[in-house]
Amino acid sequence: MLVMKYGGTSVGDARRVRESARITLGKPGINVMVVSACGGVTNLLLEAGNASAVGKFDVRDRAVETIHAKHENVLNGIGVADIQTQTRAAVDQLHASLNDTLTDIANTHELTSVLSDRLVSHGEKIMATMMAATIRDMGHGAVPVFTDQVLATDERHGSARPQRDLTRERAAELIAPELDAGNIVVCTGFIGFAPDGSTTTLGRGGSDYSATLLGAALDADEVQIWTDVPGMLSADPRKVSTARVIPEVTYDEAQELAHFGAKVLHPRTIRPAVKAGIPVRVLSTFQPTNAGTVVRPGGQSQRIKATTALKGLTMLTLDVPELEDLAGASAAVFHVLHENRVEIISVQQSSSRRAMTFILDTLTSGCEVFVSKLTEALGDLEADVTCVDDVAVVAAVGEGAANTPGALAQLLAVLSRANVPVLNSSQQSSNAAVVVVVPDDAADRAVQVVHDGLIGSARTSRRGNGKRRDVIGESYRVG
Ligand code: ADP
Ligand code: ASP
Ligand code: MG
Repeated sequence: MLVMKYGGTSVGDARRVRESARITLGKPGINVMVVSACGGVTNLLLEAGNASAVGKFDVRDRAVETIHAKHENVLNGIGVADIQTQTRAAVDQLHASLNDTLTDIANTHELTSVLSDRLVSHGEKIMATMMAATIRDMGHGAVPVFTDQVLATDERHGSARPQRDLTRERAAELIAPELDAGNIVVCTGFIGFAPDGSTTTLGRGGSDYSATLLGAALDADEVQIWTDVPGMLSADPRKVSTARVIPEVTYDEAQELAHFGAKVLHPRTIRPAVKAGIPVRVLSTFQPTNAGTVVRPGGQSQRIKATTALKGLTMLTLDVPELEDLAGASAAVFHVLHENRVEIISVQQSSSRRAMTFILDTLTSGCEVFVSKLTEALGDLEADVTCVDDVAVVAAVGEGAANTPGALAQLLAVLSRANVPVLNSSQQSSNAAVVVVVPDDAADRAVQVVHDGLIGSARTSRRGNGKRRDVIGESYRVG
């Protein structure tokens, strides 16, 4: 059994929805789909929610109208009259529930994380409902399943952590019988339920993560991430026009790429697949016959395969002159990070000055808020704190290559030739990535020159018909 996840662009209008349904029906067996909200709808829902909270009802109403129009477009693609009527009734109910949520937000005068999760769940539920109807319209049994009944999480609204055992139980109860009855099950993306039963989300872009969590819970044979690019590429194609598809990446490589900003996979997607030993494939709904990228263990190529950047980060350096203060100062930092749910991107320590450097994703708070909290937590401990906002990490990824002695030197040489300032760098023998920190505004240039210098441009050839065809070129070998 496959778990096939379709992102927002792949369900962006009636035509894309039908194409995604067709791709699913083209696979043997009865499979599970995970669908995101229609492209743009999650942003519009948040826009409506934020507007509601501050009483800007004209902005809210415009966003809601656009959402309705997008859904109407998909509903009109359903051909069988009865199915269209039933589905429209179900979607109308969900639109009414959306209005209730927006009223609750207006009354609360705040878009709390609990309300925000409830709000965005409507986009997912409407798409799952419409996709299941589209499949029925195409002649196959299908049911929508709302994963705020299935995917168990903790109570961290906006960035919930899964509870795998309970998810497994719920999937066995609510999904497996439908599959046994021959129905394709269309699950919502990125939503789950907290211990108190309220709807949670796994974080923006989290439907990829839902797919591997459900894949693990259902013992799937493979998880397929269907998106708008033909696989994992050697760089973000929006930034590097010569980026090319990588046919195979290891779990560790995919994890590093996702962790350091390759948006094609949510950063937490790979872990459940590793634990369950399930391969993940990244494929394009625009070129469905292409092989895409397979993510699985092994397949080390000793080459740098891809480069990526993660922007909007904070670099915190703590200089602790007295050795005996080091453990206390570290404890204070980690405590503040944990309390404020700040994501640690990387940590490093240099011994001579006992300086510790933390690269952090503070979300929106940045240095100002964070340093004052930290200063308080450090109390009497002697420590100089330096904090810089707007930094980016740039990673060059390739298992067996990133940890060779020459890898960091080559990366620094490429950046130095292009006059990209490097604020920090790190290489660890266990890692599949070699990483540098650069100012945010130099990140795109850094990715371009690292791609040109360490990976190389895609070679192209001409087919008989004169059309250009991308050829997967040899990657640059480090060392
Ligand atoms: P979906 O809506 O299907 O989840 P996303 O927009 O979340 O799609 O992810 C796909 C996008 O990820 C691509 O359009 C591409 O711009 C971006 N991306 C960033 N880095 C990479 C990479 N290394 N390989 C492929 N795509 C990448
Ligand atoms: N629809 C959600 C979002 O836009 C989840 C996802 O697309 O993965 O973040
Ligand atoms: Mg995505």
